[in-house]
This record gives sequence, C-alpha cells and structure tokens, in this order.
Amino acid sequence: MHGTGLPVAVGAEMFAATMNCNMGGRDHGAVEVERAVIEWLVHTAGFPADTGFGVLTGGTSQATLLSMHAARVRLFGADLRKRGIKGLPSVRVYAAEGAHTCIKKALEILGYGSDSLRSVSVDEVSGKMDMTALAAMVEEDASNDLVPLAVVGTAGSVNLGIYDNLREIGEFCSSKNLWFHVDAAFGFWVRLAAEPFCSLIDGLHMAHSIGLDFHKWSSVPYQCGACVVRNGQDLKNAFSMRPPYLAGHAGGLAGGDLWFCDYGIDLSRGFSALKVWTALKSFGTKSLGEAITDNCLQAQYMGMLVEKSPLLVLCNPVVSNICCFAMNDNLRAKKSVAAAAGVDIIEEVVTVLQVKGDAVLSTTILPGYGKVFRAAIVNHRTTKQDIEIAISAVEAALL
Ligand SMILES: *Cc1c(COP(=O)(O)O)cnc(C)c1O
Repeated sequence: MHGTGLPVAVGAEMFAATMNCNMGGRDHGAVEVERAVIEWLVHTAGFPADTGFGVLTGGTSQATLLSMHAARVRLFGADLRKRGIKGLPSVRVYAAEGAHTCIKKALEILGYGSDSLRSVSVDEVSGKMDMTALAAMVEEDASNDLVPLAVVGTAGSVNLGIYDNLREIGEFCSSKNLWFHVDAAFGFWVRLAAEPFCSLIDGLHMAHSIGLDFHKWSSVPYQCGACVVRNGQDLKNAFSMRPPYLAGHAGGLAGGDLWFCDYGIDLSRGFSALKVWTALKSFGTKSLGEAITDNCLQAQYMGMLVEKSPLLVLCNPVVSNICCFAMNDNLRAKKSVAAAAGVDIIEEVVTVLQVKGDAVLSTTILPGYGKVFRAAIVNHRTTKQDIEIAISAVEAALL
C-alpha cells in the first residue's frame, strides 16, 4: 500500500525543517496547526467535537500500540501504569482473519504475547468478521477467566480492501463494555469518497480509537499517521507524565494548554502536521474524496478487464481499491510443467514488470488460489489508461 505525495507537501516539509519545531509541547504556532489537523480528523471520523482528540504518529503501527495501551489503562485503572501487568489477568483481543500484524506486534510489546490475539473467522462471502464467531469466542474466553480487552475492526484489509461491519462490532462492544479499535490505516479515506464506497466505513464513530495513515492513501508523503480517539482523556490517562522539567507555566514558552506529549509516546517530534495541513488545504477534501472514489472505480475497472481476459481470473469481488487476480485454469494447465519445476510464475511476472517500470503489482496468498497478483491503487495520478496498460503488460508477460 505504497502512498504517493503532493509536490506542495515537499515545500511544506522544507518549511517545517527550517522552523525546526518540537511538537512535544510548549506554546508555539506549530502546535496549533497539529490541533487543527486533529480537529479535522475528529470531525471526519464523526467523533464528538468536545471530547474527541488524538495525536499524530509515525504510522498506524504506533497508533495501534497507543490505542491498546489506552484500552488497558481504561480497563484496569491508572495503577497498571505503576505496577505493570503482573498480577493482572490475561487479556484477549479479537480481530478478523487477515487483520494487519501491527495488532500482534502491539500485544507483544505490551507484554501480552501474540497468543493474546484471537483471530476471528470471516464470512465466506463478504470476508467480514463473523459476528457469531466473535460472540462465541468472547464468551468462551470470559468463562476461562481471560479478560476480553478489545475488538479490532478492520476498515480496509491489506489483502483485499475489505471492511468489517463496524456498526455491528460497535454495538457488540458497547453491549460488552469492550474497547473498540478500528484499523483504518488506508481505509479511513473512503470517508471522503462517494457512494457506495463511503458507506463501507459506516459505524466508524462508534469506535473508541482509530489508527490511520496520511502516508498511504491521502497523498501526503511519508511519514505520518494518527491515533484518533472518541475521548481524548483516554489517551491522556494512559500517557501524560509531567516531571518538573516539563511543567507548564502561565505564560512564555512553557505556556499553552495543549502538550501533545500528554497523548502518546513521543516527547520530541517534528512538525509533520504542516505537510498534512498543506495537503488538505491545497488539494482540498473534495478533490481528495474524488481521487479516492476514482481509485475505487479503477480497481473495479481492473476487475472487469481481468474478467474479460482469456488468461486471468478475478479472485474476489473488488470492494474498494484493491484488485487481486490469478492465472485462470487454462493458463495454469499450460504452465503446469514450469510450476512443477518450481518456477514461481507470478513472482517472476511481477518482478519483470516492476523492473521494466510497466506496472507495480504486488503478490499475496489467497485461500483457493495460492499466490496471486495484487494491485493496490492509491495514486491520485492513476488513470483508466494506466489500468489498461497494467493488465496488458501482465498478459504479455504471461504469454
Ligand atoms: C500499513 C497498514 C498498517 C500499518 O501502518 P504503518 O503506517 O505502516 O505503521 C496497519 N494496518 C493496515 C490495514 C495497513 O495497511
């Protein structure tokens, strides 16, 4: 899911570098720019303006870590920060099969181990988290003295761009008093798209926390993500720590009511908010939404070309901006000798096209197909013609 960038953001980066701001805290203009970006995210997520808040992060991986820590401090209380997790019961976190590994990583770092992540099966047709399976797992764990901590909804899965039913997960979480986190790393941006794509992420406002990236699908160059929460106090309770050398003052540099170091891991942090703010202001949320819609339509168009192709087969219906396809049975039979000899045809084609510069496809493994071609379309410069070129190039390379 390699993002792109806007030229204007390059200028913003240069400008930010000359200012050399530290976003950890204190009273300066850059903090107000990040506040504006966070307020925009809160609004776009559908969180209440008076409680919603967040912080910019290196990416969604860090946002996931912040969210999971905030979830456990909310559940076990501030004492956890002092005493650690020793003596507390084991927790379990739930996410659909195909959820990103950053959740597992966060649980490893938090000391729970990756076994604390339970992989919930998905509906065979839609690929969304199976809510009956989720309820059964939560019940089973609770009766085994394990503490269900959080459910992670995926809004845009890496392999197929599938969105869990966030509304159903949100309702389930509120009925069980579970933290609801949404991994919307790239998928957040359909929020700005036209129907039917914007509806994929309905129910997002029910989350306690959202991890998202600016650097994947919103045309902001690397690196910038965000952790956005329905209640800013949850982050503050989990992360605020003010020794005398970070005490706030009534005025001067140590003045100001907002110190971002209260909301996350980083104390010293650069002014990435400026390139985000510049991108949103200059490209505009309307144009960005149109670009997101276009990318989804391009993925659908690619799916259509694949279905028409005498060589290829579409693996799954295109949901958002990802199209996965494979060699059809006919071609597979023709290539069976090479495949039996250990030639990885898909990998070879993908590499050749990348090196020639014709198209940048990736590969993944899907049930029923094995290794497949994967196109993740996130570039606002991509055209319908690029899609045609990519599919023709794959076909030519396969012949
Ligand atoms: C990329 C991605 C992540 C990790 O985000 P980083 O910004 O790379 O840390 C998590 N979840 C999904 C769905 C992703 O696509």
